[in-house]
Formats: sequence, structure tokens, C-alpha cells
Amino acid sequence: MDELKKLREKINCIDAQMARLFEERMDLVEKVADLKKDAGIAVSDKEREEQVVSRGVELIEKEQFKDLYKEFIVKTIDLSVKYQQERLGKRTINYEDAYEEPFGQKCSESHVPQNVIIEREALSEVKKYFDLNRKVLVVTDKGVPADYADQVCNAAKDSVLVVIEAGEASKTLDNLRWLYEKMMENNFTRKDCIVAVGGGVVGDLAGLAAATYMRGIDFYNIPTTLLAQVDASIGGKSAVNLAGIKNIVGSIRKPCGVLIDPAVLKTLDKRQLACGAAEIIKIAAVFDEGLFCEIEKNGILGNLKYIEEIIRRAVKIKEEVVKNDESDRGVRRALNFGHTLGHGIENATGMFHGEAVALGMLPMCSEDVRERIKKLLLKECLPVKYHGDGNDGKKIIEAAAHDKKAQGDRIITVRVDKIGTFRFQDSSPEELLEIFEEVFS
Ligand code: NAD
Repeated sequence: MDELKKLREKINCIDAQMARLFEERMDLVEKVADLKKDAGIAVSDKEREEQVVSRGVELIEKEQFKDLYKEFIVKTIDLSVKYQQERLGKRTINYEDAYEEPFGQKCSESHVPQNVIIEREALSEVKKYFDLNRKVLVVTDKGVPADYADQVCNAAKDSVLVVIEAGEASKTLDNLRWLYEKMMENNFTRKDCIVAVGGGVVGDLAGLAAATYMRGIDFYNIPTTLLAQVDASIGGKSAVNLAGIKNIVGSIRKPCGVLIDPAVLKTLDKRQLACGAAEIIKIAAVFDEGLFCEIEKNGILGNLKYIEEIIRRAVKIKEEVVKNDESDRGVRRALNFGHTLGHGIENATGMFHGEAVALGMLPMCSEDVRERIKKLLLKECLPVKYHGDGNDGKKIIEAAAHDKKAQGDRIITVRVDKIGTFRFQDSSPEELLEIFEEVFS
């Protein structure tokens, strides 16, 4: 027993040394994060990480420990990256091109990079970009001009068209079941695919069907609203609503391809275009002061040619953020700026998603940021005042508390105190209600 005690003491001693070394390592990791931020370099660098692993394993002399040590060092790197992402409240975006990936190949493996093409009139050449030489379930809604989905059906070897009702109310388990049944009736196998042609509603529903049918089949997205082009189609999230709670059942799985054809925006009404503008303002406010200033100067919806450039930039920012946090546990959550309250407002009022996000941003920033965002929202014909019932605040906060971003009785929100930066804030429902009432009363 003495021997056991002695050995345990020795282990305790080693653990104490390791704890000090761990702290020292993390301090250095934090300094590296600052340098990367200043240089606009992404947090994760796969090449460097592989070098660290193989160098670490070489340092181990006893063969039987090599694999275990490899596991240890890989976990240490994961923790370092996570820590760096959390510390990087402020981010500088590296605008290296995100579209250089080979395009249109199949992607049954989960790690295939997302392929995004942004090109005017690309829809008419959809066959060039997507592998449609198989069974294709084309999903669209009644509000999307039928011609867009028809172009995909005509390009496919064997297409089955499903047209859902337009609007948020279509993001249901019933509709999801309808898609599964359509695929089963038509003998879809794992080799077949789904193409979404529509806004975020169609993309979310069809994306979830593709992520789950036979444990996942290929998915292509053709977003046709501005909001879906700059936001919903990027990053692989899909979901349906249940029991009044938004996006409560969902998945994160990247599509094989996203085809953004800005020409389809010509049929979109102004109110929907403005919703897309709200998400662009959001992404610029959180991540890119330069883009925000340009939008302040030139506006968003005034010039379609300018919109194309803005779509490109918004997509690149989102791609970069998602690349650094695919599982949505760190920096990616900053994209929820305006969304926690926004989802509550959307539920309480039936406003469009983008409009609700526009309002949801306003209580979540410093006064001067609020004034700048307000000016932009007004310019893009978005709401800046909440015109609800006096008791709505409570309902909205309750919905926010049910939102998936809430943890226990605390609600995590994203705050922007200075354009291009963000921080996470943990509030009680009462605190949030107070801020809401202060800004909107
Ligand atoms: P939407 O999908 O409801 O589309 C808005 C309306 O525009 C619909 O009536 C549709 O029929 C019509 N429409 C679409 N394209 C058109 C076109 N080119 N011409 C004419 N009409 C057209 O709304 P949305 O704003 O695109 O998406 C909102 C949804 O996206 C919400 O459910 C939201 O939760 C989701 N979303 C998802 C993510 C994500 O990461 N998955 C991100 C943001 C938002």
C-alpha cells in the first residue's frame, strides 16, 4: 500500500508540472491568436497542426505510447484552436478567395469543402455545376417563379418536383415527411440527390431532408432570395420548427454545391430584398468595419451590380467564420447577432425573418453603433421601431429563452459595442426585457 501511495504522489507531482506547462502553453497560444488577428490569418492552420502532431509523436521514445500521445496532442491542438477562437472577440477577415475549390463534384464525405459559385445567369447552366445525372428531388415553393425549378428539372436525368407553400409555416415535420415519402415512392437511393430552389425556408427544409434521408444524401442549394444568398445557404445549417420554436430540429452538414445567381433577384419583391439587406448589415457590423463603411456610403439595394459585389463579400465572410467553427460552438455563434431577440420578435409578430433580425440587433449594441445601424436600416426600408402590444416584450423574451442559444435560465446574446467587433453576453430574461423596453419604449 505504501508503494501505491508513493506512486500516486509521483503522479500528482507530474500532474502539477503538467498543469503549469499547460498554462504556459495556453498563454503562448493566446499571444499567437493576437498576432494572427493583427495579420488577418485564420485561427486554424491544418498544415502547421499536422507538423505539430508529427513532431510531438517523434519525441516519444516508447513505441507503445506513440498513438496515445498522438491522441493527446491532437486534443491539445483542438483546445488551443477553441481557446484562440474564443479570445478573438475581434476578428479581421482574410479575403483570400473562398471560391477556388473545384466545383460540382459529389460529396458524400462530411469534410468536403463547400462549393459556392456566384455568377449571373448560372442557373441556366446548372448542369455544368451540379451532378444531376441521377434522380433529383427538386424542392421549391409556390412563391418562387416556376421557371427557376423547371430549369433544374429539365437539366436533371430523372427529376421529381415538390412545390411547398411559401413562408415560414412550411418549415414543418409534416413537410419533411412529405419529402421523405416522395423519395421513397420514387425509389431514391443514397446515390441520388436533392436540389433546393428557393429562399431560406426551402433551403432549410430540403437541406434537412437531404441530411437525414438514408443517413444523408447529396444536397445542392440554389438560393433565390438575397437573404438566402448571403446567409442561409452558406454554412450547412438546416432546420424545421416545432411547437412554435424556431429551428429546434436540425442539422449541420455542408451542401455539395451552392449556386448563387444574382439575376434571380430581379423577381424578388422589395420587402424581401430588404430582409437580405438586414443580414448583410448584420454580418458587416459584427465582422467587417470596412464593408459596413462602404454600405454606409453606397447603400445596398440601390444598384444591382453593387449588390453582386456585396453578396460576394458577405459570402466570403460567412465562409471564413464557418471554416473556423464548423460545429457552431465558438466564433460562428457571433452570426446570431440580432437573432435571439429576432426569433422572439418573429414568433410574436409574424414579421419576416430579416425584418425581425433588423429590430433584434438594435438592443444589442452600444448607443453609437445603434445609431449607425438604425440609419442603415432606414435607408434600406427596414423597421427600426417595434410596433407591438405593450406585453409583447415578455412574450419575446420568453421565446428567446426557449431559443437554442439559451443555456439554463441565462440567455446568451451577441453584442456589438464597436463596428467590426463583438462579444458574447450572458443575461437573465429580466435584464434582457429591461434592455428591450429601454430601446423600444
Ligand atoms: P423565404 O424562404 O420565406 O422566401 C421569401 C419569399 O420570397 C417566399 O414567399 C418565396 O416564395 C419568395 N421568393 C423566393 N425567391 C424568389 C424570387 N427569386 N423571386 C420572387 N419570389 C421569391 O424567406 P428567406 O428570407 O429567404 O429565408 C428565411 C428563412 O431562412 C427562415 O426560416 C430562417 O430561419 C432561415 N435562415 C436559415 C439560415 C441557415 O443558416 N440555415 C440562416 C438565416 C436564415
